[in-house]
Amino acid sequence: MFTRSVTRAVLGKGSVGARKNQSLRLTGFRAYATVKNAPLAEKLSINGDRLWDDIHHTAQWSAPSPGGVTRLCADENDKKVRDWFRDQLLALGADYKVNATGSQFGVFEGEDNSIPPIAMGSHLDTVATGGRFDGPLGVIGALEVMRSLKEQGIKTRAPIVLINWTNEEGARFFPLLGSSVVYAGRSTVQQAHAAASNDASGLTMGGELKKIGYVGDGPNTFEEFPISAHFEIHCEQSTDLEKAGKPVGWVEGWQGMTWYDVIFHGEDGHANTYPMYGRRDALTGAAKLICELEKLAYEKNGASTVTGIHSRPWGACNIQSKTKITFCLMHKEAEGLEEMGKAIMERVKSIASLHGLEAETDRTVHLLPGNFWPEAIDCVRRACGDKGIASRTGTGHDSTMTTLLCPTAMVFARAKDGISHSPKEWTSKEDCAESALVLGKAVLNFDDYMKQKAPGLKM
Ligand SMILES: [Zn+2]
Repeated sequence: MFTRSVTRAVLGKGSVGARKNQSLRLTGFRAYATVKNAPLAEKLSINGDRLWDDIHHTAQWSAPSPGGVTRLCADENDKKVRDWFRDQLLALGADYKVNATGSQFGVFEGEDNSIPPIAMGSHLDTVATGGRFDGPLGVIGALEVMRSLKEQGIKTRAPIVLINWTNEEGARFFPLLGSSVVYAGRSTVQQAHAAASNDASGLTMGGELKKIGYVGDGPNTFEEFPISAHFEIHCEQSTDLEKAGKPVGWVEGWQGMTWYDVIFHGEDGHANTYPMYGRRDALTGAAKLICELEKLAYEKNGASTVTGIHSRPWGACNIQSKTKITFCLMHKEAEGLEEMGKAIMERVKSIASLHGLEAETDRTVHLLPGNFWPEAIDCVRRACGDKGIASRTGTGHDSTMTTLLCPTAMVFARAKDGISHSPKEWTSKEDCAESALVLGKAVLNFDDYMKQKAPGLKM
């Protein structure tokens, strides 16, 4: 199935530029809009016990992290969980491949295998001191849907593909969304392989993936391996569902976010003897910028986080002559995000001139706020029924890459106190099961939607 070339005629516009064509898409979609789930979606049930057991079973593959999971991209635990996922896919009869950036694909045949598959994807990597749900719930939830479809004899017209996307978190290697960004044509395999370790060790994602045996010959881009749609469960990372007393949500879009690297270059000197006046201390410049970043977030009604700092030279008696900080800015509005970016660059300049520093700046990732595809959101909304509410995500996901290509939407699962990227992350067994049921129903709704749109499609 991977070698065949599939024409992207199902939706007719599954290209990178597709999202510009909003009005066209909406017209076709409105004609179909319905409040009900597809008949097959109504039949589906989920084994919540099995899903729960697998989430906790796979949490064993972690660096020491009491209660949580620390499974960084391409580390030994990532290999173990990947091997487990591969075995589950093969046991279910998947056509299985790994691509050059390590993403795992398991394709299951539909009634008409000329149609690009409907994807369910997320990630098995976590941040350091992360939780058990951010990522794994999406992948293992998708696996549970596939197992249930098989057991219940529910066959889709389109094939289905399960995907474990590599380095979603960017916790070990920057940038984040390390494989889906290549799939979306916004980066290359070479660039992804060269992604450097955040700990400045000099290791690269390509080298580390090779070490664990996860550089494969599977498809790397949408062009090579198109999908009809992408659906993803994620824990909410906010408290809207909790406040509304709802276990699930349909995600309509995301806020904007931008990552920057700023490197201050100063001058070496003795930490004890150099006079205070005339110092060119790069770390002092970075410290001031960190304070400015916090102020800026309040001023502009956005958010900012410093996610890394590297300073040198090492030693107890050195003034710091080179300091790099990495930070992200977030805003719900595109204009607000742009304003924050401009404002912080002005402050970089003034700090540099005050402290006699040179500043290098690099905007590494820039994701404007946006919306998922209405036809995909609607499939999730109908699947949620009165158990869900509309929601938005405050961060990027692999779905924010696939939405550049094809209908995409996400399912949120209620998260206790909205906490994520912490061992305290928690979604109850019932809510995990509910989110997987919504994912499965959304896929079946989308399959039905494509059938209604192009009933006699043969390629
Ligand atoms: Zn995640």
